[in-house]
Amino acid sequence: MATDKLQIALYWGAACGGCDVAVLDTDEFILDVAAAADIRLWPIAVDGKYADVEAMEDGELDLTIYNGAVRNSENEHIAKLLRAKSKLLVAFGSCAHIGGIPGLANLTSRDEILTTAYLENPSLERGSKTLPLPESGVNGSTLTIPSFYRRVYKLDDIVPVDYYVPGCPPAFDQVKAVLQAVVAGELPAPGSVVGASERALCDDCPRVKSEKRIKHFYRPWQIMADPDACLLEQGILCAGPATRSGCGARCPSSGIPCRGCYGPLDGVVDMGAKLLSAVISVIDSTDPEEIERIIDGLPDFTGFAYRFSAPSSLLQRSVRQ
Ligand code: SF4
Ligand code: SF4
Repeated sequence: MATDKLQIALYWGAACGGCDVAVLDTDEFILDVAAAADIRLWPIAVDGKYADVEAMEDGELDLTIYNGAVRNSENEHIAKLLRAKSKLLVAFGSCAHIGGIPGLANLTSRDEILTTAYLENPSLERGSKTLPLPESGVNGSTLTIPSFYRRVYKLDDIVPVDYYVPGCPPAFDQVKAVLQAVVAGELPAPGSVVGASERALCDDCPRVKSEKRIKHFYRPWQIMADPDACLLEQGILCAGPATRSGCGARCPSSGIPCRGCYGPLDGVVDMGAKLLSAVISVIDSTDPEEIERIIDGLPDFTGFAYRFSAPSSLLQRSVRQ
């Protein structure tokens, strides 16, 4: 295709749609993108067929922005297809970057998910207990649907990725910065995490830290938190010590503890372990029994510590699968 315009694609794998909405949230800037680029595939906004992508030359796309994790055979097929057709592949948002919210499914098993959704869900119509099958006969024809994998993968488990844009979803200015960098041809070093910093979120958080220790953990709604003091030092689980900054600390600034969507800092091999270490350090006790009692007050610590990063953790998934 002879054109001066950038050729780009956007795709969602195992995703909620929030990352696509974040791109649309760039308001009129999206018109600049449309002026500078041909959007060849974007399932949420533009008509485009997989067959059109399959017909492209390898490397014909300048950029693919892939959000969502890889959960099924369609996600994997399109990830590999777009990787082959794209000069640059960006893992966009927590799900593509480190597994994200869909990655929490790695704490249970495929069979448990299917049983809950299709056999035991109280909202099922009476008698309609049908498990989806990759192939089934319908009116004399064979209907095929994607295979549901045993676990969730982050994008670079499946294909090489050039850049990572963290966040759930990425913030408006990050989205804009990435698109501007590509349009201007000013790209960071390959493999970079774009639109975020190399500091921990606590370094950017305006809440006052005083090295206070705690005797109890609380859910945010269980106490009237001091509006200026560090949430973790008040016993409210906050992932700030183990999370890369770059979001502007919007959650803790608003009284909401950080959930960790920007992922781990460079060099951290297991975000949940890093967070556990930070959380343990605020406990005010050296007595093993008291420490155990305090830790028992942590609600679903595994789900909290690996809320976004289970597929990129050392264990990656529950061993029950
Ligand atoms: S990163 Fe967040 S907003 Fe984006 S697809 Fe995943 S869950 Fe949705
Ligand atoms: S632990 Fe949370 S509230 Fe405390 S300084 Fe860090 S980001 Fe802010």
